[in-house]
Amino acid sequence: MEVITTKHEIRRLVWDARCGGRRVGVVPTMGALHEGHLSLVQASAAACDMTIVTIFVNPSQFGPHEDFAKYPRDLAADVAQLVPHKVDALFAPPLDEIYRPGHSTFVDPPAVAEPLEGAFRPTHFRGVATIVLKLFQLIPADVAFFGQKDYQQSLVIRHMVEQLDLPIAIQVCPTIREPDGLALSSRNVYLNTDERQQALALYRALRKCVEQYRQGCSRVAELQGNMHSELLEAGIAGIDYAVVVDRNSLQPIDSANDDSVALIAARVGKTRLIDNLLFS
Ligand code: AMP
Repeated sequence: MEVITTKHEIRRLVWDARCGGRRVGVVPTMGALHEGHLSLVQASAAACDMTIVTIFVNPSQFGPHEDFAKYPRDLAADVAQLVPHKVDALFAPPLDEIYRPGHSTFVDPPAVAEPLEGAFRPTHFRGVATIVLKLFQLIPADVAFFGQKDYQQSLVIRHMVEQLDLPIAIQVCPTIREPDGLALSSRNVYLNTDERQQALALYRALRKCVEQYRQGCSRVAELQGNMHSELLEAGIAGIDYAVVVDRNSLQPIDSANDDSVALIAARVGKTRLIDNLLFS
């Protein structure tokens, strides 16, 4: 696996591959890799002739009081995780290779960025859309792989690609979980033992919500109320949202159906966790 740090080199590698008729997949990440990221790498390796992983902790998607400075970074450990997989190149640019001093151009994200995460992290998706568009320019791949774990992010990217006519396919892969249900996340390292236990309530609340729907309850007010109760019972008071909404628009609904999705964002200790589950 080649480790590439410059825009010039990564672009040439990918263009040469595309011109040679190879199908290229890209997996954008912020590093601190875990099995969730590796599942995207495997999906790319299975579908493409060349797989590029990117690692870049993107400052523009962090709010002023968020964890940009302390976000876990360990490039050597990440490289060691990727080596056994079919990865052709890792693109790990330094900050100033991506954002030159004076950088002032940003993507105004699609409407689906506005609710939920958009309400709690107002500039987050502007940063995400900007870095993803930049990465797609630098790595003109055939297909990019994202995780369902960040459900709203995957919608923002799908809508951006569609609305800006970007010549790349988006594949969203299932959320990888610990055996006890906790969704893998680079931020799970922040959790102490008690918090790790509390955090299980997110998936439990989502599962119970979908289970209740399958048993015939479609009243969203009741489904949401039960998710809140489940989180509160576990001692999680910092609930940003625990909602059932339309899976395509993320707009509120009164009655759940197979096109609904349940999403939770909650603070466990000082760590903000998100998770979601589709109704079908
Ligand atoms: P991040 O490094 O957190 O920016 O995530 C990079 C990519 O990995 C995003 O597309 C995430 O949605 C995806 N991802 C993160 N956690 C998981 C997980 N537990 N299962 C599947 N994909 C994930």
